[in-house]
Amino acid sequence: PDTKLPKVGTTIFTVMSQLAAEHEAVNLGQGFPDFPVPPRLVEELDRAMRAGHNQYAPMTGIPALRQAIAAKTARVYGVRPDPDAEITVTSGATEAIFNAVQAVVRAGEEVIVLDPAYDSYEPAIELAGARAVHVPLDPRTFAPDWRRIGDAIGPKTRMLMINSPHNPSGAMLSAADMDTLAGLLRDTGIWLLSDEVYEHIVFDGARHESALRHPELRERAFVVSSFGKTYHCTGWKLGYCIAPPALSAEFRKVHQYNVFCTFAPAQHAFAAMLEAEPEHYEQLGAFYQAKRDRFREQLLGTKLRPLPVPGGYFQLVDYSAVSDLDDVAFCRWLTSEKGVAAIPLSPFYETPPAGQRLARLCFAKNAPTLDAAIERLQRLP
Ligand code: PMP
Ligand code: GLN
Repeated sequence: PDTKLPKVGTTIFTVMSQLAAEHEAVNLGQGFPDFPVPPRLVEELDRAMRAGHNQYAPMTGIPALRQAIAAKTARVYGVRPDPDAEITVTSGATEAIFNAVQAVVRAGEEVIVLDPAYDSYEPAIELAGARAVHVPLDPRTFAPDWRRIGDAIGPKTRMLMINSPHNPSGAMLSAADMDTLAGLLRDTGIWLLSDEVYEHIVFDGARHESALRHPELRERAFVVSSFGKTYHCTGWKLGYCIAPPALSAEFRKVHQYNVFCTFAPAQHAFAAMLEAEPEHYEQLGAFYQAKRDRFREQLLGTKLRPLPVPGGYFQLVDYSAVSDLDDVAFCRWLTSEKGVAAIPLSPFYETPPAGQRLARLCFAKNAPTLDAAIERLQRLP
């Protein structure tokens, strides 16, 4: 049929999870934790449902949650967004990304995307009738080349998307990067979409440079986060967007007619949780750093070469000592023949770098899961 997304197929995450299930592989592919959510969060959810919070929430999110997000943002980044005018609760970061694009990008315009990029960006852009202009990150360090990005900006550019900590590489943007970006966008009508879903998963004492910390970028930014990542509940699909009042107003028009509101009981649960246990998100970096360090140590006993992981919960490995297959073929082989599911990088690119031999492993797992995977990876030829 003559439809709008002819090139879009089933996501690589679904494909690899299905293959993992079929072959009973240890699934380090699709990014999701295999450990429980904080007990208090379950109690709060249960309490909310029993208390009768089971009908439509306010369109923008319940006030208590927006206030709790404002307080958390002030605590972490030193700026307090206005809960009424600047914060909108969404059905995960995916909905927030979609809304932001639909709200401001017109047909025929361009959005700059840095490859490798999360897979939901491009379809959102195409559905707006716009075009993604892909600029590659450095193939080894995944750092942005600001000169090339500057060169990609033209009269049709309406939005630029960044993601730090970055999926799939874990790379993080520095304060200097944010200053350079601000300079590039100064005196343009280009909006920024800052995908910060891994904002609390940062390692080695590094600081996450949220666009919210940068007064100039904040003026033009949709900052997107996800409770799924922060509270080990990717299946709850709850997130939020922080943007200046005029941008939030447009964003909310899309949200209003897309989902209207999100799952009400979980909003109550997160409102209580953010206030009662700030240590949860404050200690998330240390929690994941222990997993990262243990996993990397174990990987040294395999032929896979781990790349640095500054943030997020993915470990990239170079598999060139094991196989000369391209990354999709390698990940399929690893899953079906060797019992460990991984995600290839090429689906994150418009033009994958030639000869790149990298796969993504998710370490948001309990030790026995990672141990089982390592045992299998140690047997690689
Ligand atoms: N952006 C990035 C970079 C992600 O990794 C993810 C989750 N895979 C999302 C957005 C979507 O988040 P959510 O599950 O909250 O929709
Ligand atoms: N964000 C997850 C990842 O990168 C997958 C999300 C999804 O399956 N749609 O693995």
